[in-house]
Amino acid sequence: MPSKNDGVMIILSSPSGAGKTTLVKELSKLENYEISISHTTRKPRSYEHNDEHYFFVNDNDFQRLINNGEFLEYAKVFNNFYGTTRTPVIDKLNKGKHVLFDIDWQGADQIKNKKLDYKLITFFILPPTKEVLFERLSKRHVSEKFIAEERIKQFERDVLHWINYDYVVINDNLESCYSRIKNLIEAEINNGSKDYDEKYIRKHVEKLTI
Ligand code: 5GP
Repeated sequence: MPSKNDGVMIILSSPSGAGKTTLVKELSKLENYEISISHTTRKPRSYEHNDEHYFFVNDNDFQRLINNGEFLEYAKVFNNFYGTTRTPVIDKLNKGKHVLFDIDWQGADQIKNKKLDYKLITFFILPPTKEVLFERLSKRHVSEKFIAEERIKQFERDVLHWINYDYVVINDNLESCYSRIKNLIEAEINNGSKDYDEKYIRKHVEKLTI
């Protein structure tokens, strides 16, 4: 049963390459914060480990989890399936842990629509400029150029979902972006004042999409 000592759910989404995964990792170092580890049918990258970055599964296993109703949310992203299983998340929240989700806008929508009895705070992370985003993606996918190109094409569609999030933060500098998110989470948890300029963000998105 949910209670006031429960943890909160914190979702970070962004177009690929905006630096969200690094931010989630940094936030998870705070006391009482834990990352929700997703299942995916994507193949692991060279630096990724099973049970740490993802639970890497095949299509049949993923389908079985869907059939058994184990997912809190799942979605197809860039031709692979990604999903969050419900039990580990609820267990963490019930123990008072704040759970960080690095998931896309489809997953964020699904969790929002579930209207669980746990507090939910959603963040959308934007890159400072299109050029910076392109550079980050090209560096990440050096040997898989077509993947970088595919993700860049997806950017203009993904960015439009910013409007459905509680907060949008520009990742111009990792440290200051991290501090802004941390302060907003703390303000939300403690019902303090929140410093967020939606008009400024709207103009920034316009610049990113012309
Ligand atoms: P990547 O393949 O680069 O690790 O992740 C691709 C995208 O899938 C990212 O936007 C990431 O946030 C998203 N993603 C990762 N795990 C999940 C998940 O469990 N559910 C959903 N809906 N998206 C996820």
